[in-house]
Amino acid sequence: MDALKDSDPLHAKARVESYAPLPITLLTGFLGSGKTTVLNHLVRTLPRTAILMNEFGAVALDHQLLQKMDGPMALLSGGCVCCTISGSLSPTLKNLWMARQKGDIPAFERVIIETTGIADPAPVLDNLLHDNWIRARFRLDGVVTTVDAVFGMGQLDAHFEALKQVAVADKLLLTKTDLASPETVAALRARLATLNPAADLITVTHGAIDPAAIQNLGLWNAETQALEVARWLKPQRYQPARAGAIGGKPAIQNARPELHDTRIQSFSVVLDTPLDRYGLHSALSMLTSFRAENLLRFKAIVNLQDEPQPVVLHGVQHVLYPEVKLDAWPDDDHRSRFVFIVRDLDPAFIEKLLTDFSGAAHAHQADAPS
Ligand SMILES: [Zn+2]
Repeated sequence: MDALKDSDPLHAKARVESYAPLPITLLTGFLGSGKTTVLNHLVRTLPRTAILMNEFGAVALDHQLLQKMDGPMALLSGGCVCCTISGSLSPTLKNLWMARQKGDIPAFERVIIETTGIADPAPVLDNLLHDNWIRARFRLDGVVTTVDAVFGMGQLDAHFEALKQVAVADKLLLTKTDLASPETVAALRARLATLNPAADLITVTHGAIDPAAIQNLGLWNAETQALEVARWLKPQRYQPARAGAIGGKPAIQNARPELHDTRIQSFSVVLDTPLDRYGLHSALSMLTSFRAENLLRFKAIVNLQDEPQPVVLHGVQHVLYPEVKLDAWPDDDHRSRFVFIVRDLDPAFIEKLLTDFSGAAHAHQADAPS
């Protein structure tokens, strides 16, 4: 165990191979969007799962189901895990782990954390990613977000938290489609694909979901024992920043003034030349420090000047995930590729920030006077 204390976030692969932290799935979604119904189903179909619930007042878990559970359940009560009781998440996970080690509770193999409907996922991620004790024993596998087919459109319009929950998702579960018109469902699907191009969307009726659909969503796939960048990053699903991002203001205002999300844009930035590590770090620090509310999410595979291996970066608002160094490039494309989901931030500004700070400007502006 001593070796784990010194585990270096840069060498996450080695750590994962020598020791298998338990995967955590963060289940989020706006009020009434069917999180608990999905959880009720997963309790029955996904054995050896520990459940941490922070939802109150909505559909209670069926007591008979609870008795059938062969994993433990803990309630994060007394407030919302993203704000008023954020400090209780780490101790609750620690208690579960200790009870598991002592054999007081079944040896669960994964954890699902259900947040309140209004929770901002970023503070919860912050807790999970930056507590060294937890990071040595658990790994965040992915974020699953339920979206209500009937009320989702209105919730995305009215509540920034709902947008954040969609932006941070690795998998979107569209619920209650049987109660919505085909037109409503189609419009919502299109909107979600624009908000978060990389997240696969599946339809879930009455909570019935294949447990495999919510597992192995992150960079690391426990099934294949590999870091799967292409599946996770999906840069091809984003519009390049310079081509005018999807949801870009000018195009939208000219074409369809009634369209939603004129302030939200998803786009990619590709930089040809290897980047200066410290310059890139400065640029990303500026965004995560001063524009956290505008930076809903970014993901990247980057080619650094002093680094023969590619490095994977990931950030949500103010939260930076630990950097992951890959053994090799996933394909022949060795350019740095970033994808962003932002609110009220100009894609051109971000591209310029990245190129200026990371020394990549020459690749695109070789002929421009400096
Ligand atoms: Zn909260």
